[in-house]
Amino acid sequence: MLIAAIAIVPLIAERVRGLEVGRNDRLRMAGLQTLGLAQSGADAQEQILNSARAIIQIAASDPAVLSAPSAACNRRLAEIDEVTEWTNRFSVVTPNGRIICSSLPEAIGLDVSDRSHFKEALANRSFAVSDILISRVTGRPFIAVASPRLASDGSVEALIVALLDLQWIDRVLARSLQRSNASAFIVDGAGTVIARHADAEKLVTRNLGDHPLIREVLSRPSGILSAASLDGERRIYGFTSLEGTNARLVVGFNESEILSNINRQVVIALSVLATVTVAVLLAAWFGGEWMIVRPVRALADKAVRFGRGEFAVDPTAINTPAEFVPLDRALDNMAKQLAMWEQELRKANKRLDRLAMVDELTKLGNRRWFDVKLHDEWHACAAHRAPVALVLIDVDHFKRFNDRYGHLEGDACLQAIAHTIASVASRSTDAAARYGGEEFAVLLPGSEMEAAFTMAENMRMAVEKLAIDHADSSHQCVTISIGVASMPADDRVEPQQLVEAADAALYRAKRRGRNVTEIHALTSVSLAG
Ligand code: GH3
Ligand code: MG
Ligand code: MG
Repeated sequence: MLIAAIAIVPLIAERVRGLEVGRNDRLRMAGLQTLGLAQSGADAQEQILNSARAIIQIAASDPAVLSAPSAACNRRLAEIDEVTEWTNRFSVVTPNGRIICSSLPEAIGLDVSDRSHFKEALANRSFAVSDILISRVTGRPFIAVASPRLASDGSVEALIVALLDLQWIDRVLARSLQRSNASAFIVDGAGTVIARHADAEKLVTRNLGDHPLIREVLSRPSGILSAASLDGERRIYGFTSLEGTNARLVVGFNESEILSNINRQVVIALSVLATVTVAVLLAAWFGGEWMIVRPVRALADKAVRFGRGEFAVDPTAINTPAEFVPLDRALDNMAKQLAMWEQELRKANKRLDRLAMVDELTKLGNRRWFDVKLHDEWHACAAHRAPVALVLIDVDHFKRFNDRYGHLEGDACLQAIAHTIASVASRSTDAAARYGGEEFAVLLPGSEMEAAFTMAENMRMAVEKLAIDHADSSHQCVTISIGVASMPADDRVEPQQLVEAADAALYRAKRRGRNVTEIHALTSVSLAG
């Protein structure tokens, strides 16, 4: 999953970077558009100023206007005003600043000597444009243009003044701003918003010189910027200064609308990326889980089962992917091999167990087997305080037998005696063993002394009955001496005591002349001849 994530991250980064570049391009394009619109507005204003200059010059030489102050002049100026949609007043002003003729009768008599365009035109004797002004009559913003009419001596005879209604700008902007989300306004050099497209009345004449947008706009003649608008919305602005004034025409596009399309694309792209990422990670997880984790886990489980010695193949095992088949087969083969070895080992162990517990010559249990048996039976009988009897047998003068008949004959003799003893002690609980070289022991769990003694005597007589020649014995045949002991089994007593008691009885049997059975009691009983 980590590898999948590492592979996806650069793709996501590249896509996001691409969208970011697209977003910035979109903003730059919008900025250029706003600047273009602002410039076309400024061009329109320049054209209007040029037209105003031409019309004023024509008016200045009009005979009716020349007759000012007169009703003919007033009429002529009203006619001119009528045909120019972008003007709202034409006046003739005396060099001392008094209006003597006007298209608007109320204006006659007003003093405009303090207006900058008047002063400038008078001083320079040339066409002059005012800054944006507020009308004293209508209270609306306007630009005034003034042109001097010179007398033949070159002195200023009168000035023709035209007031250009700034509503034209609204119309120009409305024409150029096809976008519904666009805004446009004019701000004068002092920071007063003069005209504003769409809702011109609202902000008109409000001084917003402290607004960061206005400050920035007034700091340069033209440019593009992104800023919070006057109504708080974020916009891209293009602005340019208006010919002959300190004012700026500002056009702005709503940033969120410009970006809405690309923002939607960003959202779609990010959603697609998120979906792809999740899908890839899920696929990586599923793939990893099914292709690697589960098979490895299954193989590990198999190995664990083998470790426990369970070598059977699990039929419910999942389908192993191709990559793991060799390993799976190797494990199965290993299991088969291990199962085979285990079987052989068990057989070998069984053989070893038998060898370890059985006497090879007589096929009776050996001394080790007897010791284990004694221990087990002793404690089993101790549980219900049952008696345990022990019969210890030793072949009489067996050394002499060997010496006379040879060791092989001796072996055969031991086999015959062992067989005889075992056939007498034939109950399932009787346990006969070869205790030493030519010594035997028979354990009789649950037997009292009397029964044990009887069985011992049966053994002694049976051996005598074998009548194996023994020329160096007083009986002329092979005989055995027997010691018998019996006592109630007790966990607090070591079974070794039973052995010692039987051994002591055997010793006495030898002392008494052999071919006899002795019991461990002090008052020994001899039933032999
Ligand atoms: P006693 O009547 O006092 O028991 O005399 P003994 O000769 O039997 O006693 P001793 O313990 O001196 O001799 C035991 C002999 O048993 C010595 C040994 O040669 C013989 N013997 C022990 N194990 C074997 C065996 O596996 N095969 C043969 N052929 N002889 C054995
Ligand atoms: Mg002996
Ligand atoms: Mg002996």
